[in-house]
Amino acid sequence: MPTTKLRVALFTLPIALGSIVLVIGSVVPAAPAAPQYLANDGHVHLTNYVQQGPDIHDFLRVMGDKVGRATLFGIPLQQTWSYRLDGQNAPTYYLDTDAPLYYYSFTDAAIAMAYRSLTPPEQARFDPMITGFNPADMYAADHVRRVLETFPGVFEGIGEFSIKKEFVTSKIAGEPPALDDPALDRLFSLAEEAGLVVLVHCDADVPFPKPGVEPAYMRAIGALFKRHPKATIIWAHLGVGRIIRPVKDHMKLLERALDNPQLSNVYFDLSWSEAAKYVVATPETTKIVADVISRHPDRFLFGSDEVGPKNQHDYLRTYETYRPLWKLLKPADAELVLKGNYERIFDEARRKVRAWESTEKAKRAPSAQLP
Ligand SMILES: [Zn+2]
Repeated sequence: MPTTKLRVALFTLPIALGSIVLVIGSVVPAAPAAPQYLANDGHVHLTNYVQQGPDIHDFLRVMGDKVGRATLFGIPLQQTWSYRLDGQNAPTYYLDTDAPLYYYSFTDAAIAMAYRSLTPPEQARFDPMITGFNPADMYAADHVRRVLETFPGVFEGIGEFSIKKEFVTSKIAGEPPALDDPALDRLFSLAEEAGLVVLVHCDADVPFPKPGVEPAYMRAIGALFKRHPKATIIWAHLGVGRIIRPVKDHMKLLERALDNPQLSNVYFDLSWSEAAKYVVATPETTKIVADVISRHPDRFLFGSDEVGPKNQHDYLRTYETYRPLWKLLKPADAELVLKGNYERIFDEARRKVRAWESTEKAKRAPSAQLP
């Protein structure tokens, strides 16, 4: 190319580029809008009862632009595959077999490694929890401490762990936990000290209660929670289960707990499709629950309780089942239940646990050991 032509070309290029930018600038928004998430998920299991589930990067894609943040844990109970009982029929769910469940502590390492495989912005969307301990073991709190020490900067809570759960706790190899077990108190005390969120499953009642009798575990659960006023406790799926039906007065009992200043540290998750079906059973049941939430909108949070969700449709089914309830709530209350309460609770846990970890690290530093 002759020099003059080259000069002209070089001179006109920026003008041409400038006009492209101008043209593009006039049609493309300056920055992509932040996704308007439907919810944060306070209760989801990355793996099932045989420790299988999607890769965390795939789960992030399942969350997509619908779920902003999610708790991150597996399931601490591993279903035994007993050849003697089941031959080649490998069970994947606790109802598939009579073989026992046992505590599988490796789940915590697997969760920590999955979390660490993410980029920092991806990590910010997860709130990892420690679950791989036997809550009936006095050493359970020591396990939690060890996991925090081994994987600093990762975990923010403990759970979901089960104290009373229909069909499950009776299948655990060894002793099921009791509500007045000092091993539980050691766990809850550590949660208070370190700022860990406690996500606990405890049925409020036995599966087939006598009518008119107070739910079997209600009083003992309340006593346990009251012994640990500084712990931030989330009571999973309102204390109901697959067949632990909310008795007629269930919401009245929950509201009594919500009104009790000694239990102001207790939150309730609206999770699990099995529990959702009781809430939205009729327009009346939905309204009863909506009215209680409206009086205490900062005490409830959504959770899917899905297990290893592989696609967004399945993942959002609990959210969809609860939709009649969301519709009954004032927009500001729905916003709290679906997103705001989660953010407040887990942001605080993040801050507190990280601060506790650095204090503990300083205590373990060699100079701290010197006389
Ligand atoms: Zn669960």
